[in-house]
Amino acid sequence: MKNFGLNIWGDDNFIIDGDTVNINYASKPSLLSITEEIREKGYKGPLLLRFPHLIEKQISTLFNTFAKAKKEFGYQGNFHAVFPLKVNQYPNFINALMEVSEGYDYGLEAGSKAELIIAMTKTPLGAPITVNGFKDKEMIALCFIAAKMGHNITVTIEGIGELKTIIQVHEEFNQQSTSPIAPKIGVRIRLHSSGIGIWAKSGGYTSKFGLTSTELLEAYEMLKEHTLLENLWMVHFHIGSQMGDIAPLKKALREAGNIYAELKRRGATALSAINIGGGLAVEYSQHTATQERNYSLNEFANDVVYLMQEIAKRKKVDEPDIFTESGRYIAAAHSVLVAPVLELFSQEYNEKCLRPKKQNPPLIQELFDLFATINRTNAREYLHDALDHMESLLTLFDLGYIDLEDRSNTEILVNLIIKKAIFLLRDEGTDELKKLQDRIQERYLINFSAFQSLPDFWGLGQHFPIMPLNHLSDKPTNPASIWDITCDSDGEIGFDRDLPLYLHDIDLSKEEYFLGFFLTGAYQEVLGMKHNLFTHPTEAVITFDTEGKHHIEHLIEAQNLMDVLDDLDYDTGIIDKALKYRIEESTLITPDEKRELLGKIYLYLSENSYLKTIQAISESTQGEIA
Ligand SMILES: *Cc1c(COP(=O)(O)O)cnc(C)c1O
Repeated sequence: MKNFGLNIWGDDNFIIDGDTVNINYASKPSLLSITEEIREKGYKGPLLLRFPHLIEKQISTLFNTFAKAKKEFGYQGNFHAVFPLKVNQYPNFINALMEVSEGYDYGLEAGSKAELIIAMTKTPLGAPITVNGFKDKEMIALCFIAAKMGHNITVTIEGIGELKTIIQVHEEFNQQSTSPIAPKIGVRIRLHSSGIGIWAKSGGYTSKFGLTSTELLEAYEMLKEHTLLENLWMVHFHIGSQMGDIAPLKKALREAGNIYAELKRRGATALSAINIGGGLAVEYSQHTATQERNYSLNEFANDVVYLMQEIAKRKKVDEPDIFTESGRYIAAAHSVLVAPVLELFSQEYNEKCLRPKKQNPPLIQELFDLFATINRTNAREYLHDALDHMESLLTLFDLGYIDLEDRSNTEILVNLIIKKAIFLLRDEGTDELKKLQDRIQERYLINFSAFQSLPDFWGLGQHFPIMPLNHLSDKPTNPASIWDITCDSDGEIGFDRDLPLYLHDIDLSKEEYFLGFFLTGAYQEVLGMKHNLFTHPTEAVITFDTEGKHHIEHLIEAQNLMDVLDDLDYDTGIIDKALKYRIEESTLITPDEKRELLGKIYLYLSENSYLKTIQAISESTQGEIA
């Protein structure tokens, strides 16, 4: 995995240029240089970088691929798309999304009242809004208000109860009116077929959502009776997210297409669109063995267009407009989380920590000699000797023949010898070496929270591509496990021998080392939890001007400590007073010291909760390096 699987998950969005990973766009800046630029402004801790050009790329690819498929098949219906807000509601993302999608008539999908308010304010008039999920009377009223603003809004009926409320709200809103205005209506169908994979709970008979055939017929009658049949224009389904295999989609398309045609032939003449929901998968894997998607976007679009055309032809109805609500596919690639490495745990096995004695026990003296003289030719033999000596020395310790200093020297020397041997024999890649590498797994402590920034890793075991931002011309030799800074053992991405991640052996007292976590743009941000009160990281939007130069915009720093507490509904006024009181009333310190401590505490309160320094600040840099 020399390039960290970039060829598998990267989609040409990044390139390795010499030593660094760079953005494959415009002036191709490195992620490291952008990171350093932001940190020079004083922002420390993890950084979430957003790239609007990657949102644009996904949107244009989606529209162009469907345009191509439509042309190829001579398809009569139109293609439309909306972005499902639940995938990412953050303003820096949504504002960029709306900006780059101008010209595509791209809209938003809302699943709650708060999301609907975002959709009502951010969607340009005329671009589609779809509203899914459970709705109360107030939410349906909001849909009517949106329609009266002039929005092109479709409210999806998820159950018969909702339809009753729609009819009621319609009567209340349009009683006096001679030209009633109501939202368009869609029906979500309960599929007989369902999706696959860890997210596939949205489709199928046991799904939370959708109308059965019997309910569809009932809804049809109700709409007709209340003169709302001409508003029924969309059939909707959603088979679940991250659909790795295309087969379930094809089944669902046949089912939904036939329901569309049947309703239309029954008399729902205004029916003219089919909404295929989301589910388009993203390739997160860094290893060919675990690829997550078995189809291309081309195949996906061709299947949708072909199947809809076939059903329409057979049942002699018009070809429907096609809507998608793909979210993950649009958002995942747009952001990269950059996090500083704070510590490599085995750097305690450092030459500097050795405590040689005037007279070392003979076996330890031999370890010193092995370490001093190991080279490419003798590496294997010396390695075996060292391992052998270690066993003996540990036994000697248990029997009380050597002391704690001797034992510490043993551990350090053997680790150093293994590392050196692995380095010297790095091109051999034998099984024995691989096993040894597992044994000296390096734990990298990273200044981020997996709970906050990769919740789907924590909750579902979803893998996200990880790679360092530089040193990419050196072969990484440390089998790495990633530790976040929460004090929870679930915040660990362990080393997996079958899907290994190797990182570089860096002396952090001499230089910084950053890891990039990729494809974090879908779902992770709003699902992220404030475990240990680590909050949404500092974020920035990276744009490019017409000359190709990059700009860092819309920097938003992670919340400061008081804001974090305020969010939990602590009375921060009281906290503030209590801190001040306890310092001022302390009988242990002088007035001068009190003033100094007050100054310090106010400074700390204005900062975020991520770490700023590591314990082992180097003699040379002596600064805040995290
Ligand atoms: C979640 C959801 C989507 C988005 O699914 P992705 O897999 O992110 O594309 C689309 N439509 C509905 C109704 C959803 O609930």
